[in-house]
Amino acid sequence: MSSRREPDVTRVVVLAGGVGGAKFTLGVREALARRGDPEATVVVNTGDDLWLSGVRLQPDIDSIVYALAGVNDTERGWGRSGDSERVNAELQEWGAGWPWFTLGDLDLGTHLARTGWLREGLTVTQVVERLSARWPLGARLLPMTDAEVDTQIVLADGRRMHFQEWWTRHRASLAPARFENPGIDRARPAPGVAEAIADADIVLVAPSNPVVSIGPILAVPGVSEALAATSATIVGVSPIIGGRVVRGMADVCLAAIGVDTAADAVARHYGARADGGLLDGWLLAEEDAALARDVDAAGIPAVVAPLWMRDAHATAAIVDACLAAAGR
Ligand code: GDP
Ligand code: CA
Repeated sequence: MSSRREPDVTRVVVLAGGVGGAKFTLGVREALARRGDPEATVVVNTGDDLWLSGVRLQPDIDSIVYALAGVNDTERGWGRSGDSERVNAELQEWGAGWPWFTLGDLDLGTHLARTGWLREGLTVTQVVERLSARWPLGARLLPMTDAEVDTQIVLADGRRMHFQEWWTRHRASLAPARFENPGIDRARPAPGVAEAIADADIVLVAPSNPVVSIGPILAVPGVSEALAATSATIVGVSPIIGGRVVRGMADVCLAAIGVDTAADAVARHYGARADGGLLDGWLLAEEDAALARDVDAAGIPAVVAPLWMRDAHATAAIVDACLAAAGR
């Protein structure tokens, strides 16, 4: 029998939240295209999803779809470029929805399409597949789960609110006692998630919010087990550069779970795979080079690289460094 040599492909799975996840995925797409490798599978946080004015929102899914399609508003950092807010103004007149949460008109088109499909009985996975079909995204998107397990904030006084209200309305100014995803213990990974992790050569943990973006993905029963069992190398990228969160309020989330806003602390939070944790490798920013020794000492091989995701090209270089670290 002639044994035809398999092409030298790298199957990559990415764990990602919204805007940071989207930027990272743009770099993954470029890095893999250059190598002739197949499209990455991106497992996306759905803890931010919510119902508002009768429609289902999926902020992290939409951030990645819009960014990969090139129709995102890069200046504002969320939503569609060139969007208007006529429907939003009308909703406000009716006193519907949340006055502090803007829904763009084009964005509402997405939410209506999604809600219609859900009402017709499509699963979240099938909805994400349809949302991915309009533009050539160059990556395969999977929700972490088909179950509705929205992230909620529990305050010290027992008050509870949706993550989006805490983040957008209160700008994370109320000290959280903890984060919860009610019902997540009964959730299952979305179809294809565990399989993609099992078949991967490399799993990349995007520099997304460790608590409210990566945290919910890891909390879906079966995901951590698949990550523990995979023969893939798991490499994470620090979302913290020089002790700062770069963008957003991830520091408040980290503080709430007792983790310092530092690249080494986040690495230790994820843990060394050899000790039952997540990571086989960790990329640290040049600004944090002095922390490499501590990360190594925690059993997680550290690599120092420029970690600013300035554009897809710079981010592809970060991904190249991840692939090189995994090959080591
Ligand atoms: P969200 O769901 O829209 O909040 O986005 P993510 O959770 O995917 O990503 C947010 C995180 O990305 C922030 O907490 C930052 O720490 C991180 N981040 C943003 N820009 C950069 C960057 O240029 N480099 C790195 N290393 N991290 C970044
Ligand atoms: Ca998010």
